Amino acid sequence: MSEPSLLACPRIATRKDGLELSRVIAGMWRLGEWNMSVEQRIGFIEDCIAMGVTSFDHADIYGNYSVEGLFGEALRAQPSLRGRMEIVSKCGIKLVSPSRPAHTIQHYDTSLEHIVASCEESLRQLGTDYLDLLLIHRPDPLMHFDEVAEAFTRLQAAGKVRHVGVSNFTRHQFEALNRRVPLATNQVEFSPLHTAPMFDATFDGLQELGIAPMTWSPFGGGRLFSAPDDAGVHLRAVIQQVADRMEQSFASVVFAWIMMLPSRPMPLTGSGKIASVAAAVAATTFTLERSDWFAILRAARGHEVA
Ligand code: NAP
Repeated sequence: MSEPSLLACPRIATRKDGLELSRVIAGMWRLGEWNMSVEQRIGFIEDCIAMGVTSFDHADIYGNYSVEGLFGEALRAQPSLRGRMEIVSKCGIKLVSPSRPAHTIQHYDTSLEHIVASCEESLRQLGTDYLDLLLIHRPDPLMHFDEVAEAFTRLQAAGKVRHVGVSNFTRHQFEALNRRVPLATNQVEFSPLHTAPMFDATFDGLQELGIAPMTWSPFGGGRLFSAPDDAGVHLRAVIQQVADRMEQSFASVVFAWIMMLPSRPMPLTGSGKIASVAAAVAATTFTLERSDWFAILRAARGHEVA
């Protein structure tokens, strides 16, 4: 693996003339679990930015509504950071939580009022005037496309949000909303443990529109390192063989496998260790042989392609 200090993560336009993000995006879901002091949070953010990972992924609900505040504390302590990064956040899920006593059942809310209120609360928590990108976290069965588009348009007109997008949407849902307001991305789960977006038209639809997906849980939330069943052991062995032959790390080979897709996925990292973020950035410097890419797919799915 390359030295972290020598790494330079490339940037990518999520769509033509649209938002530019770092190809690798630092996922902040688990930030609360990393038990970092404010100084350590600033250090982690600085180290990410130093290797070109300037985009940070949040949601209002992360850490039971606490992660945006933890990140905001770092930004308030080191205000020069804000102008050197892009902040992504999400809204639309309401958790039952001591910090939201009015919520009696976990549910989705994509009403205009909730999207606007949630975004404004994210801005307060993060201590910033604008989000670079706001996503609807999950498709809501009670969602009105026109109403979501209206909320997004109002937030953009007010300068509170620069770009808008969605997460976990089907191709059809994405295209319906994208016809009403230009969407920057669809953030979906993708890894060797979750290959569905390659086969359910999610990635094909985005490729056709020239819009890059963001992809979450590159290691299936860590299961790729630990799944004890035969399929998991076999998949790990195949990835490790490729890694050994290429003299790359296991993690870099997984990120390279993800980024080979022609829809240009922007993978999210999930680790609090800067070396793991560096492994993702190192994966932007090489590509896999087609035969190795398919060997990993075969091990991931447990069968040959036809
Ligand atoms: P992940 O990387 O699949 O899982 C993270 C877990 O794997 C952590 O426990 C981490 O432990 C471990 N890990 C990661 N890299 C490692 C390495 N090189 N060696 C050993 N262990 C490693 O990612 P995730 O956290 O599930 O998801 C990533 C991001 O996606 C989240 O932060 C969030 O921003 C986003 N996300 C979005 C959605 C959505 O619905 N839109 C859903 C889930 C997640 P260590 O910290 O100890 O390394």
